[in-house]
Amino acid sequence: MHKFATSLRRRTSGSDQFRRCFSQLAQRQSSIEESGGVPIIPAFDYSPPPYTGPTAEEILRKRKEFLSPAMFCFYKKPLNIVHGKMQYLFDENGRRFLDGFGGIATVNCGHCHPDVVKAIINQTTTLQHSTILYLNHSMADFAAALAGKMPGDLKVVFFTNSGTEANELALMMARLYTGCQDIISLRNAYHGNAAGTMGATAQSNWKFNVVQSGVHHAVNPDPYRGQFGSDGEKYAKDVDDLIQFGTSGNVAGFIFEAIQGVGGIVELAPNYLPPVYKTIKKAGGLVIADEVQAGFARTGTNFWGFQNQGIVPDIVTMAKGIGNGIPLGAVVTTPEIAKVLTRRSYFNTFGGNPVCTAAGHAVLKVIERENLQENAHVVGSYLKQRLTSLKDKHEIIGDVRGRGLILGVELVTDRKLKTPAKMEILEIMETMKDLGVLVGKGGFYGNVFRITPPLCFTKEDADFLVDVMDYSISKL
Ligand code: PMP
Repeated sequence: MHKFATSLRRRTSGSDQFRRCFSQLAQRQSSIEESGGVPIIPAFDYSPPPYTGPTAEEILRKRKEFLSPAMFCFYKKPLNIVHGKMQYLFDENGRRFLDGFGGIATVNCGHCHPDVVKAIINQTTTLQHSTILYLNHSMADFAAALAGKMPGDLKVVFFTNSGTEANELALMMARLYTGCQDIISLRNAYHGNAAGTMGATAQSNWKFNVVQSGVHHAVNPDPYRGQFGSDGEKYAKDVDDLIQFGTSGNVAGFIFEAIQGVGGIVELAPNYLPPVYKTIKKAGGLVIADEVQAGFARTGTNFWGFQNQGIVPDIVTMAKGIGNGIPLGAVVTTPEIAKVLTRRSYFNTFGGNPVCTAAGHAVLKVIERENLQENAHVVGSYLKQRLTSLKDKHEIIGDVRGRGLILGVELVTDRKLKTPAKMEILEIMETMKDLGVLVGKGGFYGNVFRITPPLCFTKEDADFLVDVMDYSISKL
């Protein structure tokens, strides 16, 4: 019997959970055996229309000549993705891939979800753009629906076109509201790449050598690499120290991702946010939750990532999942804080345009009607459990973390020293792609698999992803 199939059988005898799933696993195992040990992608009753456009080589040639050299691609031979349907993507040859990255935690409802597509087409054919200087119901309807998803007094929405823009606006509002400049952010954070947000971002790889003032970066409450492990309260003390030693004693605010996405799916240590919230309030600042990756039901247990630590921020920023791929971002805050922007004129040509907000509204309805939060919880928990059991088998897996369908698998060449497996991850990722699974990669050292699929992911998809990862690591 193939080594891979043997390992599957061994794993099934280990835990109660797996015993319950035995028949499902046995079925999968026999199909793996039939395929000579190579896991097979779950069946999916859909074929895309034949692709007649340019080849990957032609596109790459144009891209090299006419597009910024800063743009990079995954994989030795970049993929030409030409079609998407729910949790699957298709290349130029009609080959189907399981999408474990979701356009970077963006396509929450699934690729080309018919309701979202319909909303975009309907609105485009009715009115694509006028200006917010006239009334239109699309933006107002979506703002009301979005406000309905927020806790507390977070009821006023400003639309933007991206996450960077949303965070720029939030940081400015905090500064205007408090009359202070100093922002506290976390090491390993990613909040955007414009002047202010690049300052809040704290990974050298994403920071250019340009002016970035007024941000202090606190010790990251990273349960895997941090000095205090999962003791959130101990890390929280550093925010207090930063304020006492590095500022006048008052700050504009604190910005955080409940689960750091670009930073490698680092979920802030438990019990970190409540004491930090108190410290920031004491210093007169506002608390800003960046929900660009963790928001819109992705964490499964809650609609927003910050809710997993039981705080209510003063400002919440969002993008990515808000539009299922359409360019859209938003800042949501209280009526009182929102007023600061009336001191001058604030205007954004495309922010809140009818097409994008129609898409956003459709996204909210799909998440609710299709119970995507519940699915993210159920399938995400199952996937995390299976990834965790893979850790028992492969020394190279140092950590499995995250919640719902925002999961990270950190690879190390030495578990004790936590040496980042930078080269190995590339090889494994390449093999996974060859076998039909696309996942993301990130983390400060570039050694973390980022798994952020569409929230319609199934248990069969989860099994396929883990089996492919298992097989690919075995082939190293
Ligand atoms: N915040 C977070 C948490 C992000 O992950 C990102 C994008 N990776 C941004 C902000 C910036 O969003 P955008 O790329 O839409 O400007």
